[in-house]
Amino acid sequence: MQELHDAPLAPLTTFRLGGPATRLITATTDAEVVAAVREADDAGTPLLIIGGGSNLVIGDKGFEGTALRIATRGFDLSGTALELAAGETWTDAVARTVEAGLAGIECLAGIPGSAGATPIQNVGAYGQEVSSTITEVVAYDRTTRETLTLTNAECAFSYRHSRFKEHPERYVVLRVRFALEDADGLSAPLKYAETARALGVEPGDRVPAATARRTVLELRAGKGMVLDPADHDTWSAGSFFTNPILDDAQLAAFLARVSERLGPDVAPPAFPAGDGRTKTSAAWLIDRAGFTKGYGAGPARISTKHTLALTNRGDATTEDLLALAREVVAGVREAFGITLVNEPVTVGVSL
Ligand SMILES: Cc1cc2nc3c(=O)[nH]c(=O)nc-3n(C[C@H](O)[C@H](O)[C@H](O)COP(=O)(O)OP(=O)(O)OC[C@H]3O[C@@H](n4cnc5c(N)ncnc54)[C@H](O)[C@@H]3O)c2cc1C
Repeated sequence: MQELHDAPLAPLTTFRLGGPATRLITATTDAEVVAAVREADDAGTPLLIIGGGSNLVIGDKGFEGTALRIATRGFDLSGTALELAAGETWTDAVARTVEAGLAGIECLAGIPGSAGATPIQNVGAYGQEVSSTITEVVAYDRTTRETLTLTNAECAFSYRHSRFKEHPERYVVLRVRFALEDADGLSAPLKYAETARALGVEPGDRVPAATARRTVLELRAGKGMVLDPADHDTWSAGSFFTNPILDDAQLAAFLARVSERLGPDVAPPAFPAGDGRTKTSAAWLIDRAGFTKGYGAGPARISTKHTLALTNRGDATTEDLLALAREVVAGVREAFGITLVNEPVTVGVSL
């Protein structure tokens, strides 16, 4: 276990933003993680859990308390059952399951960060979400002070949400268990039209899992969604806003605004989101509100490759980033009456 004081947090985030933590602990075993959490809780010290820092916006003033970096390791594959320690690097784990010829998480290739953070916002991309393959999550519960095993149902997964995100101060994920599929080296049926199109197959078809993974990585790289330290378009948290989910009344109001502003022939993206609700595209809203790729004059700008990613061009502060985010939220609200919600977790700041 390593302990540092007045430790800069910016280098631990993909935005490269945020001030220092009073104390930074790096834990490499589950026992060290639990001991550090208990110690902070006993002392009444605020605690910030950090995995890969790829979904964190930390304020310029930093974090007054204990930042706990989870650096545990463990990749155990037995047949189609996979158990990952929270600190495992997610992209490596995906690559290894594909090398083993297994299907289920191949389209989640290229998502930065740790395995332990994947259940927090139920990470998803290109037609897959971890909620489809997670069987159990082992977590330390800070309320009962016990380690428990939660079933998939108990994780209460939904779009970019879970029980863990609902109670952000309560659980520390230690291990995540998955049930993958042995489909003779083939992928899961492709659900995402863009991936199927790129592969020249139909949605619902299977392709070799390695091909699906490679194609997703190529599509993501073209959008600045694969980390590349040399490319400021990837100094981000990926998508900065979640896709809005609208009920019938909200959808009707939105469609009226679109018609009024852009003309009656313009149809915004609309996908069924369960319970009779409709998901629209945050990227479309941002773009149509006038914030196109590369928007911004300061050190924080919209990515030149993807409208949904806000980026640090190198010398931004968190306040620069938040100013841009607030401008986008206000512009979209004014144009379409929809208030975008940030996807990354904010620490010591809010939009
Ligand atoms: C270029 C880029 C592309 C991205 N693409 C996608 C994408 O396609 N789909 C997607 O869903 N996300 C995407 N993201 C967002 C991000 O990668 C994921 O949310 C990822 O799971 C975050 O993992 P992390 O370890 O970096 O979490 P961190 O940023 O370190 O933490 C995020 C939150 O989870 C908490 N946390 C982390 N680990 C634990 C733990 N073990 N126990 C309890 N709480 C914990 C933290 O306290 C914090 O609240 C992208 C980000 C970037 C930079």
